[in-house]
Parts: sequence; structure tokens; C-alpha cells
Amino acid sequence: MQFLPSPPKQQLSYLYFGHASFAVSDGESLVIADPFFSGEFEWLGKVERQLEPATIPVDSIHPCHAVLVSHEHTDHWDAEAIRKLLVNTDCTVYAPKPALDVMAQEGIDPGRCVQVSKGMSVAIGELQVTSYPAVESDREDEPVSRVGYLIEYGGDAIFHQGDSHGPAKAWQEFKQRLTAMVVWPIYVDSYVTQMRPPTVIFHHMDRFEPGDFFCNKDPQREVDYWSYRYPETKFLAPERNVWLAVRIPKSRLDPQCRGRHTSP
Ligand SMILES: [Zn+2]
Repeated sequence: MQFLPSPPKQQLSYLYFGHASFAVSDGESLVIADPFFSGEFEWLGKVERQLEPATIPVDSIHPCHAVLVSHEHTDHWDAEAIRKLLVNTDCTVYAPKPALDVMAQEGIDPGRCVQVSKGMSVAIGELQVTSYPAVESDREDEPVSRVGYLIEYGGDAIFHQGDSHGPAKAWQEFKQRLTAMVVWPIYVDSYVTQMRPPTVIFHHMDRFEPGDFFCNKDPQREVDYWSYRYPETKFLAPERNVWLAVRIPKSRLDPQCRGRHTSP
């Protein structure tokens, strides 16, 4: 059985569990964005089954200081995972109201949950976590339904955008501070041209059956295609279950990704 490895100290790192689920840590505090460990969820009246579910058991995660849920779709959280995290750790769950409403129906203790609003910023130890609206919620009044989370530490910032269908205007606020951005491999042109992230980390590509939603992508093909289109940006499909630095040292960038002048 695999366990969550210890995060590196004094650097902003992330670990990819699979599909849309990530841990982010500075080596002291740990947050989990979009905890989906069940391997199946209901979509359009059918059960979508993940062919390779997360292999780190949610029970092995300790400590966890915050759980960040982007929206109510249950490929981004599952009630069992949240229940276990609440039992095993001191975490607080942050989520938009529609997700919290479903969680309450699932019996999740509302006393451990916080409803997020646009621009809400909390310190989780030395991690600063700020919620920004997804593009669908850019002009939505509170309570917003979909958010992403910017997680900052030591001058680095990673943004997990959940399932925003393109960049929101509100994201311009942190554009200059962005080190890496977690996106699905759609609307990539707009993410790259409007946000200019040094690194793009793809998620939402895992294989599901029947796969009647955005999934079943070929990670290498996406990385190759987008790296060719935008050679100044580092694209990657992260390996699972290992801590990776949010900031990629320039010397580690692929030589073929440097020195090109134009992006088509
Ligand atoms: Zn999704």
C-alpha cells in the first residue's frame, strides 16, 4: 500500500493524486485541492468509473490543514474522502455554497466547513490561500458557485482553477505572481495568452468509462502539442504520488523549449 510521502521543507510543492486531486505544501502545512478518491461518480445519470483511481489511500493523509473544493461536481470531491479527512485530521473544508449544500445532505459537519467568497484569503500556516471565481462566476453575485484557489508561499504561487471554462477577468490580479497553473487541456490558448503562466500543469485527463465528460485524453500528446505551440511555457502532465516543486529551475527546462521566438 502506498502512503503520502513527506513534502519537501521550505519550498512550495505539489503532489498529484490523479484526475483533479492535488496536495500542496510548504513542508509544514498541507492543503488538498479537489479530493476525489472514490474512483467513481455519477454524471448524466450514469456511474463514471475511473480506470486508474488514486492509489494513495485517503486514510494515510495526515496532517491535512485545509481541503479546498472548487465546485459541486463530484469528480472533484467525494463525501467519503472528506469524511475521512475530517476524522483523521484537523482540516477545515472550504467550498462554494452549492458544494456545501450537497455535502450537508451527505452528512458532512457544516461546523467544519467554510463557505468561500470571491477574494477570500486565509493563512494556512505560512501558505496563503485565496479563492478566485471561475469564469462562470466572474460576474455572479455572492454566493458564487465555482472558484479556483491560489496557493502562495515564499514568492511562488500555484493556481488550481477547478473546471473554469477559460480564464476569469478576476485572475488578472495575480497574473504577475503566478508560478504555475493547473488547468484542463481545453481553453489552453486563452489561459496561456491571458495569464502567461511560466508552467502549465494539466489535470482532468484520466481515463473513465463510459467517459461522457471531459476525460480520456492522451497526456503526452497534449504536452507535445501545447509545448510546440507555446515554446516559452513549460507544459507537463504530472507524475502521480511524488512531490514536485512548483518552481522549475530554468536549467531543468527542456533545451528544445528554449530559444524559439514566436508562438503561433
Ligand atoms: Zn471536473
